[in-house]
Amino acid sequence: MSVPLSETAHGWRPPRFMVIAAHPDDADFGPAATAAAWIDAGSVGWLVCCTSGDAGAEDPDLDPGELGMVRETEQRAAASVVGYAGVSFLHQPDGALDNDLALRELLVREIRTFRPDAILATDPEVLFYRDGGVNHSDHRAAGMAAVDAVYPAARNPMAFPWLAKSGLAAHIVRRLYLFWPNDPNVWVDVSATVDRKIEALRAHASQIHEPAKLETRIRNWAAETGAKIGATGAEAFRLVVIEDDEDEGPTGGGTTEAAAAEATDATEATEDAPAPEAAVAGSD
Ligand SMILES: [Zn+2]
Repeated sequence: MSVPLSETAHGWRPPRFMVIAAHPDDADFGPAATAAAWIDAGSVGWLVCCTSGDAGAEDPDLDPGELGMVRETEQRAAASVVGYAGVSFLHQPDGALDNDLALRELLVREIRTFRPDAILATDPEVLFYRDGGVNHSDHRAAGMAAVDAVYPAARNPMAFPWLAKSGLAAHIVRRLYLFWPNDPNVWVDVSATVDRKIEALRAHASQIHEPAKLETRIRNWAAETGAKIGATGAEAFRLVVIEDDEDEGPTGGGTTEAAAAEATDATEATEDAPAPEAAVAGSD
């Protein structure tokens, strides 16, 4: 189902959601304020990091294992700021993430264990950001792996059949929210949680060298995105609806989307996709 471009605040909220990211800090540069807003409203969130960011520095003498442990600790601290119920690390190689069957099985295990209604992942179709910059290969691989794990593997009991036989029943994820998109179609009002996003980002001390600059950048980014919907802060997503939801979720909303469905004067959004980590040295 295609989702029309909406320029009102997105009203639906998943009861349970999972963020799938390539590296520690991706989820915090990405949808942290949305995650915090949804959690504050009663959703339960889980974070999955495919790698531990063990290549996220510029010193070839650094021990990758030690760096990975530091970054896991940072990510766990950031996740508790946002309010996730937990974090899983899949310990895939940083800089060499591959959307292979092994990763897909790991993600299907996570999805069938936590059973989210929605998955948030990097938009795998972005190779070049419209405002400049190349999307890290790990971000593309993690995004594509998330999509492939959601559909059809997680919902098909015959995919990795040993999982269903061992009690991990097939599970239908209803929606994908792809972050860092070139072409967003929904905007979540995060006016109340931008501060939490900044606080979560500060937990990534090994990556954040100029916290004050970062804060300004995040606030400007949220404000520019928020201008789309008349909010002081927003995060933009490309929403893909896999299962049409009759119940419209716990907010009972849907009016904004219904209204958007009738809007025919959709304008192209082109300025919402800054290269997410460009200003942060060594963030991967
Ligand atoms: Zn990253």
